[in-house]
Amino acid sequence: MSQLIDGKKLAKEIRAELKLEVDELKKLGINPKLAVILVGEDPASKVYVKNKSNACKKAGIEFEEYLLSTNTSEEELFSLIKKLNGKDDVDGILLQSPVPKQININKAFSLISPEKDVDGFNPVNVGKLAIGEDAFISCTPYGIVKMLEAYDIDVEGKNVAILGRSNIVGKPLIQCMLKKNATVTVCHSKTKNIEEILKRSDVIISAIGKAKFVKQEMVKEGAVVVDVGINRMDDGSLVGDVDFENVSKIASFITPVPGGVGPMTIAMLINNVVKAAKERK
Ligand code: NAP
Repeated sequence: MSQLIDGKKLAKEIRAELKLEVDELKKLGINPKLAVILVGEDPASKVYVKNKSNACKKAGIEFEEYLLSTNTSEEELFSLIKKLNGKDDVDGILLQSPVPKQININKAFSLISPEKDVDGFNPVNVGKLAIGEDAFISCTPYGIVKMLEAYDIDVEGKNVAILGRSNIVGKPLIQCMLKKNATVTVCHSKTKNIEEILKRSDVIISAIGKAKFVKQEMVKEGAVVVDVGINRMDDGSLVGDVDFENVSKIASFITPVPGGVGPMTIAMLINNVVKAAKERK
């Protein structure tokens, strides 16, 4: 039976420590502030923004929300980003994805000042992560790194399989795992023999958004399994990419959904806002 990696508990501890750092910054006259831009009416995005707002408030971080209509033009969004770049009291800027079709999201990310890019999506931060310089790291991969560290799971020399190659999870995770000296294999929708790759992996990190895709027979006995996926079932329940009930019988460590990677993502957002505010100091 696996040991559960309790992301919820760990995230709570990290956020409590970060609150102390925020209190110290406030004594120096710095009130950390995050500005969040949401374009459109995507219901899931609204929930994510609400969760981020609650977490910021609990950590003592000011939260400014910019809710833009679905038909917002690129020009309008870009001018808001530029305005926020210029505001001295704003430490972090986050553009919630997805955005409506008329907006080129990569262009928008590239306009966010790298010093305020707490999501780590600006090409400057993406590049710095790739060459091993200090950078804002995308919150989900960063949260996974922190979770593995907290449970003393060393990936050095291990075969790590990453399922998914998105810009927000899979790709930055490749760099994070390489930095930890893992041997990384990345799988995506065109990968052949995924089962074979997973079966020889010491660590599996799945971020594909396919309910219960990773089955017990694909997993090596004693492997570490990290589930990033969030999939809503017809009955309204949330499940990950991993068949938790069966995979947990053979994995050494496993993350649950919910309560695993999700809370760590938010904790790392708080972490990045505090880092940005410290740099303002
Ligand atoms: P995404 O942009 O849709 O990317 C999905 C990736 O999975 C793509 O690289 C795709 O391959 C690959 N893929 C899809 N079906 C596959 C299959 N059958 N076999 C192998 N690879 C397959 O998704 P994302 O934004 O990275 O998110 C992935 C999941 O993580 C979603 O469920 C999302 O809700 C969740 N998520 C959770 C958190 C959190 O904090 N817990 C944060 C972010 C995302 P191609 O590149 O070939 O299309």
